[in-house]
Amino acid sequence: MLSAARIMQRCEALARHSELPGGLTRVFLSREYRAAAEEVLGWMRAAGMHAQLDAIGNVAGRYEGERPGAPCLMLGSHLDTVRDAGRYDGMLGVISAIECVAALAANGKRLPFAIEVIGFGDEEGVRFGTSMFGSRGVSGTLDAAVLDTRDAQGASIAEALRQFGLDGSRFAGVARQKGDVLAYAELHIEQGPVLEADGLAVGVVSAINGFSRLRATLRGEAGHAGTVPMHLRRDALAAAAECVLAIERIARSDPALVGTVGRIEAKPGAINVIPGEVQFTIDFRAPQDALRQQAVRAAIDAVQEVAGRRRLNATIERIQELGVTPCAPWLIEQLERAVAAQGMRVRRLPSGAGHDGQAIQAIADIAMLFVRCKGGVSHNPAEAITEADAGVGARTLLTFIERFEPRS
Ligand SMILES: [Zn+2]
Repeated sequence: MLSAARIMQRCEALARHSELPGGLTRVFLSREYRAAAEEVLGWMRAAGMHAQLDAIGNVAGRYEGERPGAPCLMLGSHLDTVRDAGRYDGMLGVISAIECVAALAANGKRLPFAIEVIGFGDEEGVRFGTSMFGSRGVSGTLDAAVLDTRDAQGASIAEALRQFGLDGSRFAGVARQKGDVLAYAELHIEQGPVLEADGLAVGVVSAINGFSRLRATLRGEAGHAGTVPMHLRRDALAAAAECVLAIERIARSDPALVGTVGRIEAKPGAINVIPGEVQFTIDFRAPQDALRQQAVRAAIDAVQEVAGRRRLNATIERIQELGVTPCAPWLIEQLERAVAAQGMRVRRLPSGAGHDGQAIQAIADIAMLFVRCKGGVSHNPAEAITEADAGVGARTLLTFIERFEPRS
């Protein structure tokens, strides 16, 4: 029997492994991460799985199918958190997957394939700035150089792994081969308001949005705030204000597009000095690459136009770019049938946030199931779901697993 109450209790239990008193912060390879990993390993074993830490700190459990050594259906999510996090982001997916395996084991049920549940150690990238480190290891897309990445205290990932009792040099052995993994499915809190607005407990993800990140620098001329007349100024901050609003207008031009200026810095940054130089970031996300790239071009044009009109110099660098990761249509169909089997209306929606599936798609087709969250709030201690929704999510996942048909 699936127990939604137990899922909620376990989310609470994991939230207690935190470096932040009264809140939740648990970064990769910390003491708190160790405690959480031990607890999850215990739950996996109690659910009839063979479970252990892999060489790069992922928690990995396996429930054999009818025939030992069969390829697997991989389930999972992440066990690390952002700072001052909610208690469902990541954990809910790992705990729900274990709950499904426990339900199968309780009935002595074996499937024609194995099930593997992975609690990825580092999805958020808070400690080392290396997001999806754990899932990139599993998908074989990790470069050895990443192990030299250091945290704020100067410790490298390799050193932190050693302190944790693991040998990071064996990272290549964590990688799974294409034929070993029939598909990857992740249950995750929505982290947005769409399902709540539609009155639905769960939704099926169509694609994980791609993103483009840029940094713009505007150079004008610093000057005395009292002596330079307005018509002679080349104020970089006033120009940046126009740019921010132009970027907002571009982002609003299509309901599927979002755009954010999340950071701005003015120099020299004094109350009595005209800002001579301003740097700001731009982040665009969309479910189609073409839509996102079009927005990036429009933003670059807008910044250049503002700079030209105001006699400023503008440079725009592209910092990071990741294309859309589509969920596989054959898995979307199976997941939607599982939603319909709960008597629920089927709703497809894109994921605005990044997820481990973006790494795993290198070795397997992926699918995601979203569970409604309260007020669309996430990456925040106020993150909340209801026990009823946790139950619908887990039952949908279990139905999907039981009826899963590998692509022939
Ligand atoms: Zn997450």
